[in-house]
Amino acid sequence: MSARECTQCGACCVAPDIAALDKPLGLACPHLGPDARCLAYQSRPQVCRDYQADELCDRIAAPTLEARVAKYLAHFELQAEADAVARSGLTSRAAFFARKARLDTSR
Ligand code: SF4
Repeated sequence: MSARECTQCGACCVAPDIAALDKPLGLACPHLGPDARCLAYQSRPQVCRDYQADELCDRIAAPTLEARVAKYLAHFELQAEADAVARSGLTSRAAFFARKARLDTSR
């Protein structure tokens, strides 16, 4: 896929799992604001800086963030896995603070 202009749709901050953020599949990154914009944009991790928009961004276009995420998960056949994550009660914020605590204690 070739690089595209970012549509700032927010789906890549919700749908994929992001190991660098301990962000589980299908759950919103704790840094994602209500307007689907990154609240930590200046200090976002390298994985977010490196992410390149591509044709998938056009393919998952939809009027709502929820619909875009659903289309992303369907594209990669990950909806069942994302549903299991949601049922587990795991949250990105919990994962985020657990990671922060691990880092704090390792210093
Ligand atoms: S840190 Fe910002 S850019 Fe990266 S996933 Fe979270 S909200 Fe998106």
